[in-house]
Amino acid sequence: VNNKYRNFPMVPKVVFGQGCFDQLSSILAPQRKDKAPFIFLVDKVFKKEQALIDRINLRFNDKLIFVSSEEEPKTTQVDQIVKDIKAEFTFKPSGIIGIGGGTILDLAKAVSIMLTNKGSAADYQGWDLVKTKAVYHVGVPTISGTGAEVSRTTVLTGPVKKLGINSDFTPFDQVILDPDLTVGVPKNQWFYTGMDCFIHCVESLNGTFLNAFSQSYGEKAYDLCMEIFVGEELSEEESRGKLMMASWHGGMSIAYSQVGVAHAMSYGLSYVLGTKHGIGNCIVFDHLEEFYPKDVILFKKMVKKHQVEIPKNLCSNLSEEQLETMIDIALSLVPLWENALGDNWETIMTREKLKALYLKM
Ligand code: NAD
Ligand code: ZN
Repeated sequence: VNNKYRNFPMVPKVVFGQGCFDQLSSILAPQRKDKAPFIFLVDKVFKKEQALIDRINLRFNDKLIFVSSEEEPKTTQVDQIVKDIKAEFTFKPSGIIGIGGGTILDLAKAVSIMLTNKGSAADYQGWDLVKTKAVYHVGVPTISGTGAEVSRTTVLTGPVKKLGINSDFTPFDQVILDPDLTVGVPKNQWFYTGMDCFIHCVESLNGTFLNAFSQSYGEKAYDLCMEIFVGEELSEEESRGKLMMASWHGGMSIAYSQVGVAHAMSYGLSYVLGTKHGIGNCIVFDHLEEFYPKDVILFKKMVKKHQVEIPKNLCSNLSEEQLETMIDIALSLVPLWENALGDNWETIMTREKLKALYLKM
């Protein structure tokens, strides 16, 4: 049967509110299986924050692993963590809890999948390749924008490709949205990851795949971004809560549509130069006035207002070979181009055109 409409899994449980992170222990308690630990994957940036670590409240043989988010997650990294957990514990963990940004959330999703599925994470990069339900997994975002907390994917760099594990078993079983956890985010990073959300909305709302489901979430997230990044009235506290919900809605919006030109090109940058997702999207979006005229003007206004630095001249010194790889990676993301430019996208986004765009960046 060729099912025309996707039957989409959602995060079944979510708690929202300032300080709700303190409920973590009581949320986990009923999920604890005899002798099976909870494994906490925590962004290394919190290593010095003893107060936060104490709130995690490790019990029995629970284990906390600090993970660097310096680089985006890799399939080899997932495989190593899974191997270490299997070597240390006889029993399959009761759950995996990811505490951090998109990098750590994706890692937690992937580890929970690979604890119940054979082989390497690289074997599952693609669509619906996962056969067995993942270990119970919980996402606790500490920075807002990617939508990784709601999405059905976990983006990993593998030996041959950067591609998500898209499956019905990928979404978290539980998400804890505590806006206070984002208090320490550096301003530039706040902006880059926040713009990921804004760009999700722009690409979803201006795409050919748009439908009422995506539009309803996309418009809400877009309006919240306007309040947060161009408005004048919000307190920091309000702004944090709203950005957390914008991220959620932006993620929901692209779940039932697709992203577009900025994401396709940003993946190319990331693959060749290691540019991280949020900042990469900003570098690219700054030059896309031809595709998203009104929103690129708005973006430039936001950059100015918040006095953030968008890197320039990344591509001018690349070798011909590097540029070609970048173009290959970007053009391989067919659904993104179809969404952005329609069925005739190949006549619009030629290799020459893409190269000219990259050379501006
Ligand atoms: P990130 O997780 O890479 O973190 C960015 C930086 O912010 C890091 O240095 C981190 O240590 C720091 N940080 C995070 N929380 C902090 C806090 N509370 N205080 C101080 N510093 C803090 O950033 P991100 O933009 O959230 O995630 C990017 C990743 O998300 C990429 O790997 C991308 O592929 C992935 N992504 C996934 C999806 C999805 O649907 N699965 C969607 C978009 C992006
Ligand atoms: Zn994104």
